[in-house]
Amino acid sequence: MNQTHNSADQHPHISHHGRQNSDSPIDGSPRTRPERRSYPCNSPGCAWPSPFPTRQALTRHREAVHLDIRVNCPVPGCDRVGDNGIKRKDNLPAHIRNKHQNHLGE
Ligand SMILES: [Zn+2]
Ligand SMILES: [Zn+2]
Repeated sequence: MNQTHNSADQHPHISHHGRQNSDSPIDGSPRTRPERRSYPCNSPGCAWPSPFPTRQALTRHREAVHLDIRVNCPVPGCDRVGDNGIKRKDNLPAHIRNKHQNHLGE
């Protein structure tokens, strides 16, 4: 009777030898913490050095600084450009309508 250990009965459960797969990272720490957020001013041309700690601070900054921003009138030859530009973008359509009789809308 040759009893070889090699022809052992096949166990249905998988032996723990193929567990070395280090492909999936260990999810120990969250990658982003929602607290500690900062709100940088993303207005074009803003030279504010650092982001704001709260959204309110950002809003206040934008109201204080950027609501005074001037918009260049796109109509060629108009003097409402640069320092003489139109305050607030919302006023631009009215200016074009009043001053230029809607030249652009032809
Ligand atoms: Zn800004
Ligand atoms: Zn104009």
